[in-house]
Amino acid sequence: MKNIKDYDLKELKEELTNIGEKPFRAEQIFKWLYQEKVKTFDEMTNLSLDLREKLKQNYTMCNFNILKKQKSKDGTIKYLFDVLDTNAIETVLMSYHHGYSICLSSQIGCKMGCKFCASTGINFERNLTSGEIVEQILAVEQDTGIRISNVVFMGIGEPLDNYENVVNAIHIINNQKGLNIGARHISVSTSGLVPKIYQLAEENIQCTLSISLHATNNEKRSSMMPVNQAYPIETLMQACKDYMEKTHRRISFEYALAKESNDHLADAKELVKLLKGMLCHVNLIPINKIENGSFSKSSNESIMKFRDYLNDHGIVATIRRELGSDIEAACGQLRRKNLKK
Ligand code: SAH
Repeated sequence: MKNIKDYDLKELKEELTNIGEKPFRAEQIFKWLYQEKVKTFDEMTNLSLDLREKLKQNYTMCNFNILKKQKSKDGTIKYLFDVLDTNAIETVLMSYHHGYSICLSSQIGCKMGCKFCASTGINFERNLTSGEIVEQILAVEQDTGIRISNVVFMGIGEPLDNYENVVNAIHIINNQKGLNIGARHISVSTSGLVPKIYQLAEENIQCTLSISLHATNNEKRSSMMPVNQAYPIETLMQACKDYMEKTHRRISFEYALAKESNDHLADAKELVKLLKGMLCHVNLIPINKIENGSFSKSSNESIMKFRDYLNDHGIVATIRRELGSDIEAACGQLRRKNLKK
């Protein structure tokens, strides 16, 4: 059966027309799903009994079950959701002074093979559908009763490797009749799939693009991130410049600092050179150590020196707060070990 949450509003209108219904029904269904957040078709009381029956026979609602819920001492919550086949995924809810952020997974597993990240591994299972991406938000809001204001595609998976479903999910998240979260409050993070960055620039979605950079020369970056062999730094930076020119949006660069590896002042200097003249922001992430990983966290002193060097040379840089590391919910700690039920 098809998942009703896989459709954006336009597609749902077409779908309903195909089964002989009026397109405005799609708006009513959207309201029930994303504003009222109901879990059954029976609750959609402004639809006729006939239509509710037809919907029940043709579509699922893909409500996730919570398999596990862990709460960090900093308030971060990590969910393990049953995605209704043999798989499970992790989603993280973080609380900031400006509201709640959710960190979404986009795939079950990941193909990118970044050496410092626990999400990667030998088995890539499959892409998440748009409905499964959106359901992570609904399930967390239903469980906690809070309203999520920021969405980051920084959980398991490479969002631009599941391009269509991620873009479609963004439409649902962003639509005023859907979850109504402003595009400026949605960030997509990529390890650097250049052709998809160009494609995204054409979408006319005002979301923030984050680039996982982590190193400033090809030798170092390739040793950390195999994707750099396909799309080296020069190609990636050109794509970023073209993206900015096309969208007039500021790009955010993520740089995870690993001790004695990419955290020297010489690296900061190279980074300044690389980003010179670009409208951007650098997010410094103290690297989180993962099981069997060869990278360890830079000292606080090196991290602050790195940040100060960037700020003193005209690059806006901030250090990302480490949330949820005690429950392995921090950047790069979401992992495959939990992905089978
Ligand atoms: N695949 C996407 C999104 C997922 S990761 C991407 O690569 O951008 C979200 C961010 O966490 C990325 O910047 C990623 O490089 C970073 N990250 C991965 N492992 C990490 C670790 N062990 N410590 C700190 N950051 C990490």
